[in-house]
Amino acid sequence: VETQIRARGVRDPRVLAAMAKVPRHLFVPEDLRARAYADEPLPIGEGQTISQPYIVAYMTEALGLKGGERVLEIGTGSGYQAAVLAELAARVYTVEVIPELSAASENLLSGRLGYRNVHFRVGRGQEGWPEFAPYDRILLTAAPAVFPASLFAQLNEGGMALAPVGAGEQRLVRFRKQDGIIRSDELIGVIFVPLV
Ligand code: SAH
Repeated sequence: VETQIRARGVRDPRVLAAMAKVPRHLFVPEDLRARAYADEPLPIGEGQTISQPYIVAYMTEALGLKGGERVLEIGTGSGYQAAVLAELAARVYTVEVIPELSAASENLLSGRLGYRNVHFRVGRGQEGWPEFAPYDRILLTAAPAVFPASLFAQLNEGGMALAPVGAGEQRLVRFRKQDGIIRSDELIGVIFVPLV
């Protein structure tokens, strides 16, 4: 947290505390545990990856969570980002297309770690999770070529969506919904697996 995250400019004390609290080593395969806190993404099986710690912290800070939000995450993966979000928001709804990854994450978060505010769904993230919409924040952790516009309908007024966007080069793009209008700005360059 000090050398990889705080030193690079992430300052929100709640984000730093959440990053210090969530046991990242439980989210990576056992044979990679020694590298769990290294400054790099790691494979989590099924051809997918858990993001570099700094990127998780950066995106979480960019969401500006105050504690009362309902958050939709697309791309559950290992469940690590979902756990960090669960520390900082009221409820997390997370959608994953690979059933095995969703099930393993649910076991870890709802079972071993005891999170009661994270809800899991297997499905295509492009469809979101209409049943529990609208969300105050929507976070994609897999990259579409173009942001799926249908998700904007599930975003609350005054809400924010954050996503890696791009087919080749990707940028992290922040979308804000104000008076029904979506405005976007680009943050940093990133590398995520594609949204399929
Ligand atoms: N947030 C994760 C890392 C995400 S890796 C973590 O903290 O570990 C990206 C994930 O998005 C992968 O698990 C991949 O299977 C999933 N994914 C890819 N396309 C998807 C889609 N269309 N809908 C839902 N999930 C998708």
